[in-house]
Amino acid sequence: MFTIRHDWTLDEVLTLLQQPFNDLLFQAQQAHRQHFDANRVQVSTLLSIKTGACPEDCKYCPQSGHYNTELEKEKLLEVQQVLHEAQQAKMQGATRFCMGAAWKHPSKKEMPYVLEMIKGVRALGLETCMTLGKLDEQQTKELADAGLDYYNHNLDTSPEFYNQIITTRSYADRLQTLNYVRESGMKICSGGILGMGESLADRAKLLIELANLPEHPESVPINMLVKVPGTPLADAEDIDPFDFIRMLAVARIMLPKSHVRLSAGREQMNEQMQALAFLAGANSIFYGDKLLTTGNPQAERDRDLFARLGIQPEQRHDHSDESHAATIEQYVLEQRTSNLFYNAAEQRA
Ligand code: SF4
Repeated sequence: MFTIRHDWTLDEVLTLLQQPFNDLLFQAQQAHRQHFDANRVQVSTLLSIKTGACPEDCKYCPQSGHYNTELEKEKLLEVQQVLHEAQQAKMQGATRFCMGAAWKHPSKKEMPYVLEMIKGVRALGLETCMTLGKLDEQQTKELADAGLDYYNHNLDTSPEFYNQIITTRSYADRLQTLNYVRESGMKICSGGILGMGESLADRAKLLIELANLPEHPESVPINMLVKVPGTPLADAEDIDPFDFIRMLAVARIMLPKSHVRLSAGREQMNEQMQALAFLAGANSIFYGDKLLTTGNPQAERDRDLFARLGIQPEQRHDHSDESHAATIEQYVLEQRTSNLFYNAAEQRA
């Protein structure tokens, strides 16, 4: 029985991480099946509402103004444009709309536009999610009052390794924002990035920080570093894929009721690795804003993979991602009845 705990120690987590791979995956599957349908995966979508020129110096990020990554910068999108994109997303089947801005924090001038976006997207009947950087108590309250459902704010790594990756803000600031978000009643999405040169202990400590919060984040993205030319981590050493899977499995054990999201870096993973990630307990994926383009090949590949693994998109009854889920579910059903789908039951009969 995997209980909800908030008192994890470093020794315990290191032991979990270093046990034989098969034992770890077996435990993670047990934890996963205790709270979730193991063959369901949640899907989310994202729009960048303000891109690049960020004053923070996160060494992994192409949007930081400190590095030259030839990224095309964009000012804060007009509210009407965001609502147009949200409408398009809804027509594509999405029911949750995530909006991200590359800011240190939202300014007084920008807040009214952000609040209008939340209200407008909600008025379209979509669930809302935002990532805007550091928040103060008043801003958090304003976002919650406007109807924001989720706030994303990643811890990235351990407190000890943090200042080797980011020097323009502190770990304590991150925790304070998470605290404001929790107190406001919004849901939390918070996780980290692997493959930045951190030690095994740093990875364990990241999970300890997340699991030892007074309440576990509802969503925990585990990212694999995407090495972007021009950023200081462009030549970082690759993480062993099995070590990445181990982290997903331990996250599943320590945060048994949270959605563990296989997030950035998924494009670099082959299908076998993604299948292992789902086996380890990852049960959420991110499509990204490209979903809004019809015929997105990445989305097609995801649907194919779901069909081949017999995975269904998670059905939610709080109006999130439901019709989007239905679209994918229909596709999976079509694949099952097509000649391409190998029906093991039929073969045995
Ligand atoms: S705060 Fe966000 S957008 Fe800005 S550099 Fe860091 S990761 Fe990139």
